Order: sequence, then structure tokens, then C-alpha cells
Amino acid sequence: MTMCQICLTQPGTHCYGLPPMADNPFRVPPRITKQNSHFWTGGAEGKLNFLRCQDCQHWIHPAQPVCPECWGKNLKPEATSGLGEVYSFTLNTQQWVPAPDHPYAIVLIEFPEQKGLRLTSNMINCKAEDVKIGMKVKVAFEEHGSDPKKFYVPVFEPVEN
Ligand SMILES: [Zn+2]
Repeated sequence: MTMCQICLTQPGTHCYGLPPMADNPFRVPPRITKQNSHFWTGGAEGKLNFLRCQDCQHWIHPAQPVCPECWGKNLKPEATSGLGEVYSFTLNTQQWVPAPDHPYAIVLIEFPEQKGLRLTSNMINCKAEDVKIGMKVKVAFEEHGSDPKKFYVPVFEPVEN
């Protein structure tokens, strides 16, 4: 049995048990529910899905059962354009988990669909020191896990001008 790379015990005794290092960086598996599965599985079709109120058209992320604008409950997942802009960012220099690239940027992406519609994520195909506020980005997806617990983490890469 493979040892966990973080706690150095066998998986299932103390922690989730990390798989051996793969091409994708380590991600803590999300708890996928009926309410958020559109977000975690949309990447299978290359779609960044958020809930949207069907009554007032307000986009909602993170997922919640009621529209914060009109208190309506008629919410459905819809795909965004996948385009966005770096609203803010920070650089992580501490190696918390086995991951190849340090430092790396933790970015807050804002989407043109709605002011204030934002997602915390990471950048790919971009050096941490090259990340800038206002940088135009587009979504890409990291595939993790295996069926039926496959999930897709949205990450962002610079849009070439
Ligand atoms: Zn609404």
C-alpha cells in the first residue's frame, strides 16, 4: 500500500491518503452535492458553470439555495464565457503539500458576466511573478479522481493579446 505523502501513514488511518504525485497538483477532493455538482463536473464539457437566478438573472457563486438579490428559489446552472480578469492575487511561498511549483499565485478572478462574481483559483502557463491585477484570463480545467467521483478544478491561464 502506498504511504500518504503528507502524514506518512497508510491512507485511511489518519487522513485522506494522497495518491502518488501526478501531473496535476494535489487537490483536496470537494464534497460534491446536488447543489454544487454543476460547478465541479462542468469541466468535463469545458464549461465553467455557476448558478443563475431564472427570475432576476443574477449569477450566484458559491452555490446557495436562494437568490441573494430577489430571494427567488428558481436557480439553474448556466455556463459563463470562461473569460475573466485577475481582480486580486497573492503569492504562496510555503510548500504546504507536495507540489512542484513554488511560489505559486492564488488569484481572485472576476467575471465580465457580473460585477462582484468572483472565484478563487490558481494560474497555469504563467509564472507566479508575472501575474498582474487586471490581467485577462480564460478558464482551463484540471481533471482529478476517477468515476464516479471525478471532479474538475477550474484554473486560469493568460489570454494572449
Ligand atoms: Zn434573483
